Amino acid sequence: MQLKLFKAALWSPLLALALLSASSAFCAPAWAKVEVVTTYPYIAELVKEVGKDKVQVSALARGDWDPHFVVARPSLIAKLRKAELLVINGAQLEIGWLPPLLRQANNAKVQPGQPGFLELSNSVQLIQKPQNVSRAQGDVHPQGNPHFITDPHLVPPLAKSVAEKLCQLEPGDCSDFRSNQAQFNQRWQAKLQGWDAQLKKLKGKKVLEYHRLHDYLIQRYGLILVGTVEPLPGIPPSPAHTAETVTRAKKAGVSLNLRGVYNPEPPSRFVSEKSGIPLITLPHDVGAVPEAKDLFSLFDTLVSRLSR
Ligand SMILES: [Zn+2]
Repeated sequence: MQLKLFKAALWSPLLALALLSASSAFCAPAWAKVEVVTTYPYIAELVKEVGKDKVQVSALARGDWDPHFVVARPSLIAKLRKAELLVINGAQLEIGWLPPLLRQANNAKVQPGQPGFLELSNSVQLIQKPQNVSRAQGDVHPQGNPHFITDPHLVPPLAKSVAEKLCQLEPGDCSDFRSNQAQFNQRWQAKLQGWDAQLKKLKGKKVLEYHRLHDYLIQRYGLILVGTVEPLPGIPPSPAHTAETVTRAKKAGVSLNLRGVYNPEPPSRFVSEKSGIPLITLPHDVGAVPEAKDLFSLFDTLVSRLSR
């Protein structure tokens, strides 16, 4: 009976169409979206820009969380379990929390080294790679500073590597990914001119920061880092270090005291109150503050808070 139907289908385009649509219900339809999981919201935004309607994206961490420490939850493991692509910041920013989640998710497709894995830090030049790493230096990032997302000039190469990865996974949609990336890049370059014009005014200004979170931004726009409120990465400030920071900042003529939304506020506030240097809280990711809704508004917020 089935063979007869098949033979009949050869002669009847209408029947062939009906058979084809019936059979497609049992295998993955051509319009299925690529399930992408990212470690941080800013990466999810990048993937949405490049993948548009061809991707289904969700981030593991929230933008207002400390990116170094994300608490493992069953919901995060479930997301990783069904992912076809995992995109991470890399440079060991996720080293403290992602490996156990990946182990528990037990999804071979998205393990490091597999086609379904992308580490964005490979597409930027990392700064501050330590000569040697010891516990005495605190929780230092051994591959270099992983907080490259604070420099808007580094966003286009990240978008390019996302497009290349999506092309590798879904070659049939590659021309769409490439044109989405080109359009994104065009919009980004237009905004970048305005951000550059604002931030260039800060050149030569001396700054403090809580953690070495804004160093790519500091370097890009010629600001001068005088010190950090935390004595060593991940080590909370002692009263002695805080007092010394106040003295040093006043002597050097520091004009901005920066902190990330997740850094403890009291030590930075204390330094600002004692020195008279304004404290500026900056978003480090999409969703870190309510105004930073996407990549564009993240940098709009960052720039407006810095140029106040
Ligand atoms: Zn860090």
